[in-house]
Amino acid sequence: MKKAPSKRLFGTNGVRGVVGTEITPDLVYKIGAAFGSMRSGRIAVGRDTRTSGETLLHALKAGLLGTGCNVVDCGILPTPALQFLIKEEFDGGAMITASHNPPEYNGVKIIESDGTEMGDEETIKLEQRIFDQTFSIKPWNEVGIETSASHLVERYIDAIVTQFPPDIGEGIVVAVDPGSGPACRTTPEILKRMGCRVLTVNGVMDGTFPGRLPEPTPEGLAELSALVVSSGASFGIAHDGDADRSVFVDEKGHYIEENREFALVAKQFCTQQKGFIVTPVSTSNLVEAIASSNHCEVVYTKVGSIYVARTMLALIHDKKKVVLGGEGNGGLIFPNHQFCRDGGMTAAVMVSIVAKNNKNLSSLVKSLPKRYMIKEKVKTKKASVIMKELKRALMKEHLDETDGLKITRGSSWALIRASGTEPLLRIIVESENKTDTGKFFNEIWGLIAESLKSDHA
Ligand code: MG
Repeated sequence: MKKAPSKRLFGTNGVRGVVGTEITPDLVYKIGAAFGSMRSGRIAVGRDTRTSGETLLHALKAGLLGTGCNVVDCGILPTPALQFLIKEEFDGGAMITASHNPPEYNGVKIIESDGTEMGDEETIKLEQRIFDQTFSIKPWNEVGIETSASHLVERYIDAIVTQFPPDIGEGIVVAVDPGSGPACRTTPEILKRMGCRVLTVNGVMDGTFPGRLPEPTPEGLAELSALVVSSGASFGIAHDGDADRSVFVDEKGHYIEENREFALVAKQFCTQQKGFIVTPVSTSNLVEAIASSNHCEVVYTKVGSIYVARTMLALIHDKKKVVLGGEGNGGLIFPNHQFCRDGGMTAAVMVSIVAKNNKNLSSLVKSLPKRYMIKEKVKTKKASVIMKELKRALMKEHLDETDGLKITRGSSWALIRASGTEPLLRIIVESENKTDTGKFFNEIWGLIAESLKSDHA
């Protein structure tokens, strides 16, 4: 059987790499030219705050303009802000960003006219054009025109603010850490316009990320936590480098694990509406527990926010009610707003949750059922052989193969997946308590170790 073509350059979140070696202006020009050859009309582009952003954005625009697309440069803005603008009024778009990666990285994310990231099939065609260099370069009288429209980000801010009752945030103090990224332009403004008093740390755009790295880790957010505690803020919020994800610290400055963040938002939404929650197989079963106790259902997808977004759209197409989508990493998708992860919207939703419940964030999170998760990875070049052996060994279990192998035993589950980009296996095990998680993990770990020792692996 002929193997289906797979993506070679793009991962689940676009092309990413170290600037100067993996990501060069030449490559980004080719991405622009390939995309411009496949699409026509008005293409919106933007970037995060990385120092390499300007160079790469020029290269991208050159490719798009040369193939006849009209380019609207939206400047520095969060990825979800660009996706929102594209959904509203453009024929497609591209964002220069490396999301949560360190400052030396950058990349490109291609967006379709509905605001979702380009799917696998189209991406494979785009890559083929890049490898073959089949670009529809236009003559002098057919090249595109560029316009600058950095003010358009206001429409994104408006669209979020108007989803909530006016002044819902009155009396709420929020500390915001946009991590020197593009949300410096949006999240503090959104929350202020909801009536909150807003304090910021790392609130000035700076592509060297002087305060903390773009990945919002508990360690990196020490300054945010300190600000929350010293100011008496209701909570703190931080974004990753392109603000499609939001993470929170409670009023005591404690980091809220992202699956619990998702579950808290799910609880709020599921008490108001009945329908489906869409999430990858790697998300805590806490979300399913919350959903089913509120007469909602969970639909699981492969790991990757694009699969969540596309599944949400497919369900809605089938006239099903979709309440919420999201991942256990602080990336939440709100179907009333748009079909991509949106950090600014998540921040606004958290304000509404605190306002409606009139309770501390710590007590809201504490009221959720407990779960205990172990995440581990094993370096191996024989991932596919091990996966086959595991499947055989676990045949009698309740197995799901949506992405890798998921074994479910009541409220406990384990997921083993081969990484698509690195030679390793990822393992996640979760139960309601530490002892059960430990036992289940040791069992899976034992099977993998056995497989690693055997001749086949
Ligand atoms: Mg991101």
